[in-house]
Amino acid sequence: MFFIFGVNSDRKEIGSFGPVICGCCGRYGRYQVYMTYMCLSLFFIPVLKWGRKYYAETSCCQSLYELDPQAGRRLQRGEQTEIRPEELALIRRGGSSSGNAWQGWTDQPVVRYCPACGYETEEDFEYCPRCGRKLEKR
Ligand SMILES: [Zn+2]
Ligand SMILES: [Zn+2]
Repeated sequence: MFFIFGVNSDRKEIGSFGPVICGCCGRYGRYQVYMTYMCLSLFFIPVLKWGRKYYAETSCCQSLYELDPQAGRRLQRGEQTEIRPEELALIRRGGSSSGNAWQGWTDQPVVRYCPACGYETEEDFEYCPRCGRKLEKR
């Protein structure tokens, strides 16, 4: 006889909480809270779950936090409706790929220029495409 079993990681949405002022971008956002877990299934019926982890993602800039598991469980059971900052550990700061305006000051482009012909570029060139001199950073 065959056993059909599989191990999957699964994700369960818990809900959204907020509004909160985002610690990453300073705007109002909400936390989208979800749980991930490993699941062993036998004949497609889940029999064992383990490795539960809770995460909170902000809706404003998609910063990702790992949520304290006890707080996650309380949120799931509806015993707690707010997330306190000390229950969160930042995993990924959001917004960097979308290039939001608020971030511009941290991310000044490096301007390179050619001392020979005055060519300027924000591209990551080492040498001047016009005359071949080594570019200098401003
Ligand atoms: Zn944010
Ligand atoms: Zn040049």
